[in-house]
Amino acid sequence: MSAVTAPGTVTAGCSPASRFDVARVRADFPALGQLVRGRPLVYLDNAATTQKPRAVVEALVGFYTRDCANVHRGVHELSQRATEAYESARRTVARFLNATPDEIVFTRGTTEAINLVAQSFGRSILAEQDEILVTELEHHSNIVPWQMLAEQTGARLVVAPINDRGEIVLEELERRLNERTRLIALAHVSNALGTVNPVEEICRMARQRGIAVLVDGAQAVPHLRVDVRALGCDFYAFSGHKIYGPTGIGVLYGKAELLERMPPYQGGGDMIRSVSFAGTLYNDPPFRFEAGTPHIAGAIGLAAAIEYLDRLGLGEIGRHEQELLEAATIALAEIPGVRLVGTARHKAAVVSFVLDGVHPHDVATVLDHEGVAVRAGHHCAQPLMERLGLPATTRASFALYNTLEEVEVLARAVRRAREIFG
Ligand code: PLP
Repeated sequence: MSAVTAPGTVTAGCSPASRFDVARVRADFPALGQLVRGRPLVYLDNAATTQKPRAVVEALVGFYTRDCANVHRGVHELSQRATEAYESARRTVARFLNATPDEIVFTRGTTEAINLVAQSFGRSILAEQDEILVTELEHHSNIVPWQMLAEQTGARLVVAPINDRGEIVLEELERRLNERTRLIALAHVSNALGTVNPVEEICRMARQRGIAVLVDGAQAVPHLRVDVRALGCDFYAFSGHKIYGPTGIGVLYGKAELLERMPPYQGGGDMIRSVSFAGTLYNDPPFRFEAGTPHIAGAIGLAAAIEYLDRLGLGEIGRHEQELLEAATIALAEIPGVRLVGTARHKAAVVSFVLDGVHPHDVATVLDHEGVAVRAGHHCAQPLMERLGLPATTRASFALYNTLEEVEVLARAVRRAREIFG
């Protein structure tokens, strides 16, 4: 494990061994230069949403100032430009996931992508007593749509447990698979604990039994290179805003042969081939699932974010973030009264913790006064908090632009919270 640099050490925030030039990266993010409460902003709430690089902001401005028109409809120049940029964004996302463009549906985000699968795919395959398997560490977005579907169809929700480190217990998950299991829905990376789940192995188990798998990739895509073919999943969902792109845009990847068979999720313009009062003929995927005017600028901004990540290299980003994770883990564990929550062997750069006798919200408030933005609460994972016997945790989640100095500021601020409330 790499150590935290001594306080006051002047580096660009990356270790000498790392080739990742974090100082240069930070210059791409205008929001990072500001003072908060008179101190330099230390933004460690990246699992909630990320800051945006100039390239993304410029892509949005470019669309709205030059190419703004609706897509797939007009013959005029601007509409053609907008359509080309929107469909080019789809091709960029497809390349990013190793999918084909017809397998990429633009949604509002992960939440809408999961609801789409539940209401279109789920509703058409589930019968009474069928089972949907989720795990104990899911975000509410990957629980509630399945509960709603279970209510609508008479299917049951089955929950696979985690161990005390916050890892899925594979044997227990496998024991819960049977001839009634139709779908497994699980996170690639836990938003509350940072656990990276063995998705490839779970997909293999599912495939052997003819069970479909949806992967909630909201917290994975910013940190890991994702290849949906190598994972072997049927559906993969993520949100643009967690990967340095705009809010309000997200992606559902679905295997072509599944999307082909799925009924529409919503009705409206663009998802049809022809409409008459005698009946409507639906469009092909992915357009069948994109009713109405889509978030055109959002898709273009998301493609700019992906291109930005590609230029930096997800491998380099991953190494830099692992360095931050290790440093933060050591620095926080050394503070008396701190208990780390989620100690999986394979983690993304998320550190959840509790401080003895101090409510996580109070910790976060002290941190805020030091200019450090973290999240405190149940992280939209109340069943997980219940499993851990905790009402809440404080969570620091790192991104490619964070530095080792910021890890030190975090640790100093937590020590300060301990002094104030201890
Ligand atoms: N799944 C996970 C693991 C998440 O962390 C989040 C957001 O925090 C979501 C789903 C929901 O994402 P969105 O609100 O962008 O739809």
